[in-house]
Amino acid sequence: MGKINKEDILELLKEYDKENITIATLGSHTSLHILNGAKEEGFRTAIVCEKGREIPYQRFDVADEYIMVDKFSDIVNDDVQEKLRSMNVIVIPHGSFVAYAGLDRIEDDFLVPMFGNRDILRWEAERDLERKLLTEGNVRIPYKYSDPSEIDRAVMVKFPGARGGRGYFVASSTEEFNQKIEAMKERGWLEDKDVANAHIEEYVAGCNYCIHYFYSALNDEVEVLGMDTRYESSIDGFVRMPAKDQLDVSLSPSYVVTGNHPAVIRESLLTQVFDIGDKLVESAKELVKPGLNGPFCMQTLVNDDLEVICFEISARSDGGTNTFMGGSPYSYLKYGEGMSMGRRVAREIKTAIKDDKLEIILT
Ligand code: ADP
Repeated sequence: MGKINKEDILELLKEYDKENITIATLGSHTSLHILNGAKEEGFRTAIVCEKGREIPYQRFDVADEYIMVDKFSDIVNDDVQEKLRSMNVIVIPHGSFVAYAGLDRIEDDFLVPMFGNRDILRWEAERDLERKLLTEGNVRIPYKYSDPSEIDRAVMVKFPGARGGRGYFVASSTEEFNQKIEAMKERGWLEDKDVANAHIEEYVAGCNYCIHYFYSALNDEVEVLGMDTRYESSIDGFVRMPAKDQLDVSLSPSYVVTGNHPAVIRESLLTQVFDIGDKLVESAKELVKPGLNGPFCMQTLVNDDLEVICFEISARSDGGTNTFMGGSPYSYLKYGEGMSMGRRVAREIKTAIKDDKLEIILT
């Protein structure tokens, strides 16, 4: 089967009962507030749930329908897709949905209407495409080194794939780079083929802000709905150790997200926050038509020159949106009520149904 295009989805939509739309997602990642928000906006909700993982959804009672599967990736199976379509489902993608369904399957054979732009998911997953979106938009990103021999200051070394920072390290010279590569190989965290793909970038000494935006394609407006910082293991545990002991133990930190803290940013930085969000939306419109649509996140570091530097983006609901299930200081400013990211998505869908504009926000 070729790529799913918008016409295929619009064709399906003709058969849908628009008065009886169900909002569904995979039971993981940010599904609690996606489904809770959908209920708050009056939708019926469904969850595709891996057997054994249903407890949180039952205890928080966010789903009207459970579609139980043996494994998460079964969400793309034909029988599951059929069931979803029969319930007039609009699927809301999130990080785990993308990871388990797989980009190829989402692009080629997940024939269920999805909120947002399904083509942009590949752009956040592949580092070169992600950089292109940011650089074309003139967003400040960490300086990139093309070869280890060029290392002249502290750098962060990363490797392809979502590995929770396993094997990532900091180095300040070419010698240190080589030493650490060897050490990581000995631990079995890196293989020779990874080394050739090492991504070396300027180490930004600064504070982390992951900024959660919502781009409303209906209103052509970029909204800031919340911010978080990551709580990562083992690095955040290490820093509780006195520096002397950190030097004594020979441990390499990793950056596996285990949770998130809500955050607010210094008010004078909000101009930059809106500016980079607007810029990303503009470059996405050019590069991956029709562009961003709905939730996106810019993971940034703010240095002591008060520059907001973006090192990663998500082009769908990001895990850090879980910090504002009942609203954030920013969503309060904008909406004055408990507006989670999930609820904001549901409200956009509700508005589109009312104004007969679903074709703008679905792919
Ligand atoms: P992953 O591949 O796991 O998504 P990230 O790119 O998010 O990894 O990086 C993991 C962590 O490393 C981030 O949360 C951030 O704290 C830190 N980090 C990433 N890039 C830089 C950088 N250029 N300078 C300093 N710290 C960084």
